[in-house]
Amino acid sequence: MSDYRIGYGEDIHRLIEGDHLLLAGVRIPFGKTALAHSDGDVVYHAVADALLGSLALGDIGELFPPSDKKTVGLDSALIVKKAVNLVGENGYRVTNIDVVIQLERPNVASYKAAMRSNLANLLGVSLGAVSVKAGTNEGLDAIGKGEAVKAVAVVLVEKAQ
Ligand code: MG
Repeated sequence: MSDYRIGYGEDIHRLIEGDHLLLAGVRIPFGKTALAHSDGDVVYHAVADALLGSLALGDIGELFPPSDKKTVGLDSALIVKKAVNLVGENGYRVTNIDVVIQLERPNVASYKAAMRSNLANLLGVSLGAVSVKAGTNEGLDAIGKGEAVKAVAVVLVEKAQ
């Protein structure tokens, strides 16, 4: 295979009444929460799918089937770790990653540094290799109406020497 491979992942979760959002492992107090089988960390899910996609290793639904009762309330950091380990077992390592979070509220700007730090630790890369961006959907569609939160991730991996 080539020295470099690219992966793309995205995920969306419905927002329901609750008391926090979990984004890249950062707990953000808020009046809604992600409806999910796992802990509902939409960023980690998008990142895991991007990692798996980079080496055509399937998707997180195959790795952690929602039908499996063991995935109820699952810590999504474990999903990312599993994907990182699979990338490593296949002879590659993460070069850099770029993440976009789409949600109408709350403003998560002050949490982005903690999200980058969590992702850098999980992926085994420096902070400079992790980008986290966030924006609203300008009031449009389900995200804009505050009914959903979405994350998109693109990752580059390179052959380990
Ligand atoms: Mg998900």
